[in-house]
Amino acid sequence: MAQRIHVLGCSGGMGAESGSTCIRVGESVLIDAGTGLSTLRVDEMRKIKHVILTHAHMDHIASLPMFLSNMFEGVNHQVQVYALSHTIEKLKNHIFNDEIWPDFTRSMGPCGPVLNLHEIQPRDELQLEGTTFTLFPVDHTIPTVGVSVRGDLDFAVALSAGEGLGASGAAATSEALNNSGTAATSEGATPTGATKPESAKAHFVFTSDTTAGELLNHELNKLGDIDVLMIECSFPNENHELAVHTKHMTPKMVDATLRALEKAPRSVWITHLKPSFEAKLRQQLHHHIL
Ligand SMILES: [Zn+2]
Ligand SMILES: [Zn+2]
Repeated sequence: MAQRIHVLGCSGGMGAESGSTCIRVGESVLIDAGTGLSTLRVDEMRKIKHVILTHAHMDHIASLPMFLSNMFEGVNHQVQVYALSHTIEKLKNHIFNDEIWPDFTRSMGPCGPVLNLHEIQPRDELQLEGTTFTLFPVDHTIPTVGVSVRGDLDFAVALSAGEGLGASGAAATSEALNNSGTAATSEGATPTGATKPESAKAHFVFTSDTTAGELLNHELNKLGDIDVLMIECSFPNENHELAVHTKHMTPKMVDATLRALEKAPRSVWITHLKPSFEAKLRQQLHHHIL
């Protein structure tokens, strides 16, 4: 069965219509655990078995502690969390330290400790629930990975319009993403899945938080054909210095990155708009919004 890519949260902060970064792949895998995770019902949360954390920043981990509190009953599995050593160290020292929150790596649920932490490296490949997750390094203020997802994927947002793919499906993409606080874009956007044979694997790429530059261009080009690229844009063009300092992106940096790609992704989803700058960012990204 196709694994649906469901963006539960895509804001770069708090106060937008959407929560912060959390992407569900199928029913049981999450990429990041920002406040968007809180939109799931408890029974949906209890289906989550794997969480890949791209980095330790609060907007990407905020809901992890309280989510885990729901995993002591009504489940028959442990939660496997995959993170860089830097992220694991920060989680252990500052969150799951028996002061801010219990150490869930020692708190017993029905199947043993509720939380299992697994150290990952920037080049690792994880096979989870029949889908391949490949990590790649990006350039942020702390160690961070982007995630490439290959498998039988269903891009919920793009295809939710049902019939009439192409222009109307793409417009639906824009509307749905706008409602959840993200700008949608198209690079000749035919919603993914429409033109692919049944057996073809789809490719979703999430950059996580990163600034523009050679590393990102190189890593994205290495990934080859991309169906949906979810790329961040945090600050408007006027705040270029701030974007460079905090290692995020502006609309101009997004455009430069897209121009540097040898193959244009079929769709581009722009994420991580900082709520304070959202109106201005939407103006500056208008050429991407469908
Ligand atoms: Zn960050
Ligand atoms: Zn972030």
